[in-house]
Amino acid sequence: MKKSLIANPAARLNILVVILFGIFFSTQAPGQTRINDTTMADEAQGENWLAFGRTYSEQRFSPLTQINQDNVGGLNLDWYIDLPDSRSLVSTPLVVDGTMYFISSMNIVRAVDATSGDELWRYDPQVAQHAARRMRAGWDNSRGIGLWEDKVFVATWDGRLIGINRFSGEEVWTTQTIDPELAMYITGAPKVFKGKVLIGNGGTENGPNRGYVTAYQADTGEEAWKFWIVPGNPADGFEDAAMEMAAETWTGEWWRHGGGGNAWHGFTYDAELDQIYIGTGNGSPWNHKIRSPDGGDNLFLCSVVALDPDTGEYLWHYQTVPGETWDYNSNMDIVLADLTIDGEQVKALMHAPKNGFFYVINRENGELISAEKFTEVTWASNIDMATGKPVELPGQRYLDAPALVAPTPIGGHSWHAMSYNPNTGLVYIPTIHWAASWDDEGYDLTGFQSEQWKVHFGVDMAITGNSTRPDGVQGTLQAWDPVRREQVWEIPSDGVWDAGTLTTASNLLFQGKANGQIRAYNALTGDQLWEEALGLGISAPPITYSVDGRQYVGILVGWGGSLAALGGQPMADYGWAYGDHARRLYAFSLDGSMAIPPSAPPRIPTPLASSDFIVDTDLAVKGATNYAEACVACHGFETVSSGMAPDLRASGTILSSGAFEQVVRGGALSENGMPPFSEFSDQQLEVIRHYIRQQVELALATPQ
Ligand code: CA
Repeated sequence: MKKSLIANPAARLNILVVILFGIFFSTQAPGQTRINDTTMADEAQGENWLAFGRTYSEQRFSPLTQINQDNVGGLNLDWYIDLPDSRSLVSTPLVVDGTMYFISSMNIVRAVDATSGDELWRYDPQVAQHAARRMRAGWDNSRGIGLWEDKVFVATWDGRLIGINRFSGEEVWTTQTIDPELAMYITGAPKVFKGKVLIGNGGTENGPNRGYVTAYQADTGEEAWKFWIVPGNPADGFEDAAMEMAAETWTGEWWRHGGGGNAWHGFTYDAELDQIYIGTGNGSPWNHKIRSPDGGDNLFLCSVVALDPDTGEYLWHYQTVPGETWDYNSNMDIVLADLTIDGEQVKALMHAPKNGFFYVINRENGELISAEKFTEVTWASNIDMATGKPVELPGQRYLDAPALVAPTPIGGHSWHAMSYNPNTGLVYIPTIHWAASWDDEGYDLTGFQSEQWKVHFGVDMAITGNSTRPDGVQGTLQAWDPVRREQVWEIPSDGVWDAGTLTTASNLLFQGKANGQIRAYNALTGDQLWEEALGLGISAPPITYSVDGRQYVGILVGWGGSLAALGGQPMADYGWAYGDHARRLYAFSLDGSMAIPPSAPPRIPTPLASSDFIVDTDLAVKGATNYAEACVACHGFETVSSGMAPDLRASGTILSSGAFEQVVRGGALSENGMPPFSEFSDQQLEVIRHYIRQQVELALATPQ
């Protein structure tokens, strides 16, 4: 039963006050910024950071110029706060009238004074109580929150979307956006536009799931519309004409596998053309031969889909990878800009998805303007401009033999935000240069059936961890010219997994790095102008804002995202051992005078030797399979933790069957984010212990 606010006389009075207040102050009195379609589309105001990508355009470009090329070298720490209850921090904070809102581990939302960090309120959605086994997917990451008028919106791991009063921190409404039986989850930021809140979900790899996005009324949480990304079983009837059209591009009994396409990131509202763009996910399972055995493009996988923001009705789409089979989803940022191409102004959208091509698309009709490789690409030679489709290279689909393919499922570019500076005309992209091997030999392609809550791809994939470049560089920050379709400059990194970018009207570019440094560059030339070491791998993008005439650069520091969980040894080598390093929110300014607070030095955990545990090789082999299905996503490839969860090779808990049972089956550490695996048998628990201890022995036998 829903409570009616209007039935409450006090609430009625409040509403009256709000209406009168709105009449008197609707011309944006200082300190009372309205958060609506007008202000979120306003590129000129720089004090606030109202939306995920600052404004609706998702450019992450700020007009603020107090911090400039000449003085950025003197940027100093103004304030910071410790976030001891956090692990992964990957989100973009939002700022309104001197208040900063941000989401941290376990989806806890805080409002703090943006000039001091003093906490105003904290909202804890009690994720551990709600999420249970859903914590097995999307481990601890949330990329952000949304704002609209007097509310802030948080989407939780377990699929709830919650509206909170942004002045009091009180919950106003909550709604469940995911069937609790399905292995789906939310890591994305809600996208707010026209009084609606849009949210998608992840889960393509966690079971036979079917992706969708849902829009809710910002005031009440009532569902406004839903758009399914892939068609269901035709026998059940299609939800709309778009699904009927999409079904023509699938073969076999695709619905048995869910189809996937989950939209977990990459939503952009276009206030000028009044369209919402959805970046869609890859197929479930990954292997196209299983999912759609007689071929087919599989709409609307790996696409940018334009929808009517009022109804969710399909308008147009552009598919980046027809018949996708390498986890090349199109969930990356969709950035809007007016570009002058061949002398004509084009309303463009820019998109650099996992597959390694940089796309410029006419957003009035979805027509491809250009597509160029921004990293090493082996799966296609080019995009045919006549058809808009990729020209694939032979052997890359692992049809009859294994294949080595670039980019990898981590992407040539992942969700780490790219930014666009209209002054320089350049896009700034964190780029990865890796290849992966693919092999489905031995798979029962016709009998394959994925299950909820088990990670399955329908193919073996291994990232080589070697660079695809002659110079061996694995990660770069690059400036890309979307009009001339070429790279302008690049800066090699000392690894991969650097975070998203921010650019300003002073032609500055800011980025946090996996090695713990935050840097500022000249956005035109790539020359480095400033650097601070913040004591922990950075995975969140910086923001900038201004209060009382002082410009700040803010950033969350907390190692996170998929590679920080499952990346194995290359990520472990950064030394961000689980639990060692302070998680913090930092704000810098030219008037700042604080020293960077100390942090623990990098450390690589040492596997725990024990002569008491005798490894049984047969059990360890069985354990490897169980580990890959249940544990790898958080505890890391081949049991090497990359830092977001404990390194099990260093854990004494593994040595005790009783302690192991309490944690894994009993959920003793669920408040820390360790989900209970209550369905595990004694045998499963035992074989996993043998596999982990086998990996310890292998590590101890290998000379360092
Ligand atoms: Ca995926």
